[in-house]
Amino acid sequence: MRNECCEFLLHQVAFYNDEIRPCCSFTIDKRKLFYNNFSGDIQGIKDYLKAREKYIKSFKENGTAPCLNGCTIFEKTLDTDTSFKINNLIISHRTYCSCNCIYCEPSTGDTKKRKEIINKKKHYQIKPILKYLYEENIIEENCRFLICGGECSEYPREELGWLIYFAMITNCNMLILSSGINYSKEIETALEYKKTVLKISVDSGTKKTFEKIKRVKKYNEVWKNIKKYIQISQKSNSVDTYVELKYIIIPGINDTMEEVDAFIKKCRKVKCKYVRIDVEHFWVEENKNNIEKQKTVKKIINYFFDKLYADKEIKIDIEGVYKDWLWAFVQDKYTNHQMG
Ligand code: SF4
Ligand code: SF4
Repeated sequence: MRNECCEFLLHQVAFYNDEIRPCCSFTIDKRKLFYNNFSGDIQGIKDYLKAREKYIKSFKENGTAPCLNGCTIFEKTLDTDTSFKINNLIISHRTYCSCNCIYCEPSTGDTKKRKEIINKKKHYQIKPILKYLYEENIIEENCRFLICGGECSEYPREELGWLIYFAMITNCNMLILSSGINYSKEIETALEYKKTVLKISVDSGTKKTFEKIKRVKKYNEVWKNIKKYIQISQKSNSVDTYVELKYIIIPGINDTMEEVDAFIKKCRKVKCKYVRIDVEHFWVEENKNNIEKQKTVKKIINYFFDKLYADKEIKIDIEGVYKDWLWAFVQDKYTNHQMG
């Protein structure tokens, strides 16, 4: 019998500064599943893979994955009996970041905790770990290779260059998250590759809102860097290489039509072709049963879709529409999606 499961649990591995996990879900965090206090040793990965297998086995016979319960980000799938391969690798083993977003995971609700983590926590060497996974032949062809936290343009240049090289030679699809504050030659190299998406969250259209959310005075620099990255990506001449600008809706801060209009205007100016909308995850978690509060957020999501769904130049990335209560109404309204 095949049980309902989560794609991340089955095929994703995420390396955080002190943990290995299948995902970034807060549900997982709360339950302290899998491998904590990871310090980069190979034995740690072996232990994690064993713990993962044991966890999956425990519900395989009769039931669904316990962590699915209450999770807001799962990707539903059926469990399989095929041998384990990673199709999603998350590299987030460092915490350096000069940005100061109000929604940064460790900061939300606890600024003190964030200060203890960002820029201070120890990191470990990621290269031996990736070499190990490669030699064990558990990285799937076309695996998504996500380079994210803290801020990858602040990784040592040699390491970021190596990670990009590793993704290329293992034929991975690269996804790079950056604040856009610093221009990176290594990211530029990645954008010359045929399978790279660079995602930058600007979450605003005006300088005032940008500074309120990012808490750094780098609005002009960020848009200048975005423009340069977009120009490079377009030279790659590949549909799989592009820069995506993200707008995380933070209720009460950037959920106005004026801000959305200003953001879209900036996107057109830099010739951005892909936009992704999201809603701040802690807000989603806290308000999943609050119909009234959801209404305001749905209004702004709807506004975004009305503006961009039929746009000839900017495509709206609808990832998340199928699985999330917050997006289901958009799915009803727009039946033909632009992006798969
Ligand atoms: S169900 Fe949620 S907590 Fe469990 S692996 Fe999937 S995303 Fe993570
Ligand atoms: S750019 Fe990312 S890591 Fe840096 S503060 Fe913002 S959310 Fe946190």
